[in-house]
Amino acid sequence: MTRDLALDDAALAALNARFATASPQDILAWAWETFGPEEVAASSSFQTQSVPLLHMIAQTCPQMPVLFIDTGFHFPETLAFRDRLQARWDLNIRVVRPAISKGELFRRYGEGLYRRDPDLCCYINKVRSMQEALTSFRAWIAGVRRDQTKNRQGLEVVIRQTSGLLKVHPLLNWTEAHIAAYRDVHELPVHPLYYQGYPSVGCAPCTRPVLSASGDADNARAGRWAEADKEKTECGLHLDWEKEEA
Ligand code: SF4
Repeated sequence: MTRDLALDDAALAALNARFATASPQDILAWAWETFGPEEVAASSSFQTQSVPLLHMIAQTCPQMPVLFIDTGFHFPETLAFRDRLQARWDLNIRVVRPAISKGELFRRYGEGLYRRDPDLCCYINKVRSMQEALTSFRAWIAGVRRDQTKNRQGLEVVIRQTSGLLKVHPLLNWTEAHIAAYRDVHELPVHPLYYQGYPSVGCAPCTRPVLSASGDADNARAGRWAEADKEKTECGLHLDWEKEEA
């Protein structure tokens, strides 16, 4: 269903021109002031890369709902890190679970779907879950950056998905160096697996350590879906869902 949005294409272009040099905090504050707690939510995977945006949310708009998709495949360390950050910053975390249980997933598709068809596994567990969780919101804050993947290079700070949902990327113009500097200045915690070689952490079956724990922009996500039978760099959450499904 297409949402009734006040931002037409010209207003969206003007907004992106204004945000080209804006700080992530200013972009976040704009989204919060524009939409408020009923209409805007952030999402987070609670890995080291996620912490600066979570810190900004805690400083700027701590009541903002933060959606966390519990696929059932996370490392226990990720769940513990999520709980630690929640306790530290009193974040408004909302746990989103897939419509079908892990047991049902195995019954329907067998074990190892994440290796045989990771796109389908991510669609069932992540994309569809997020679609359903966002149906009552008009805007979605996500912490993606241009330097992370080829697909993300072409994004804008504010985009309108085919469904009409506005997606806001406060950190889009930041680099790995900005993230590291922000973490240092604010003495932010890192995911428990970070120093074991996991600069980027997703579901346990689809994440392996990489050689450099800190990673640079090119290799930080090299440990994601490395064992899958097909090349994959995105879970699909940050693609335009309707276009992908067409
Ligand atoms: S990251 Fe792996 S286990 Fe998690 S939903 Fe995607 S394919 Fe499945």
